[in-house]
Amino acid sequence: MTTPDTPSSSRRVAVVTGASSGIGEATARTLAAQGYEVVVGARRLDRLQTLAQEIGGRAIALDVTDDASVTDFCAQLDRVDVLVNNAGGAQGLATVADADLEQWRWMWETNVLGTLRMTKALLPALVDSGDGLIVTITSIAAIETYDNGSGYTSAKHAQAVLHRTLRPELIGKPVRLTEILPGMVETEFSLVRFDGDAEKAAAVYDGLTPLTAGDVAEVVGFVASRPPHVNLDQIVLKPRDQASARRNVKTG
Ligand code: NAP
Repeated sequence: MTTPDTPSSSRRVAVVTGASSGIGEATARTLAAQGYEVVVGARRLDRLQTLAQEIGGRAIALDVTDDASVTDFCAQLDRVDVLVNNAGGAQGLATVADADLEQWRWMWETNVLGTLRMTKALLPALVDSGDGLIVTITSIAAIETYDNGSGYTSAKHAQAVLHRTLRPELIGKPVRLTEILPGMVETEFSLVRFDGDAEKAAAVYDGLTPLTAGDVAEVVGFVASRPPHVNLDQIVLKPRDQASARRNVKTG
């Protein structure tokens, strides 16, 4: 097993983007419990500071859609061993015919270009670590399409292609790459998708048992604790109640 505490002079550092809620927050807790020094980034700094205090990590404001913010964030890191590209989400549900260009821009900027900015900026440090790991949280929306979901599914497909292209590009370098593709996870995801409408968001999970953020974080923790020669390429996880993006116990 990789021991996060070695080398003893300084602990292994894990960067988690989008750690102010949901999967990112749970992942930060899991990696901190494994001994990583966790650096958490997101726009809501107050939430990050509370989390960092709890887990003994560092909170730094980060907007992955903003070049200057990414540069500032990365300039404050001495070493990086693990990068979890988690910041992301969906806005709205609409047919292609009714697509909202602003919502598409937000989804592509956050999920795709956000992952690109962070990965580009931290790649040299990940290589230098001698045992780097990049975990990207895509989605089953990266391997499926669904009606009214093309803004999000196209962004997740693109984010996944960016991540998967790095695997052969980095062959021979000491960096592992893992894509995690969750199905339905109850977080603030639907609240964001439905622009703060809590009733609409709750209805998504009514009548089925979704994954929790902790379920996904445990998988990230498993990935991050494998020995350096083991690369888990892709992991798809869904609730038992969901067979695909289009079929669950409610849709039949
Ligand atoms: P969430 O609770 O809404 O968390 C999203 C996180 O992303 C928040 O911490 C948010 O923080 C951060 N974020 C959004 N825009 C950002 C930006 N411009 N810069 C930095 N951080 C930003 O949703 P979640 O479910 O945990 O989502 C995490 C990831 O899992 C996303 O990539 C999502 O697409 C993916 N995913 C979710 C599900 C699901 O069903 N929930 C399924 C598959 C994949 P701030 O608002 O504070 O910046």
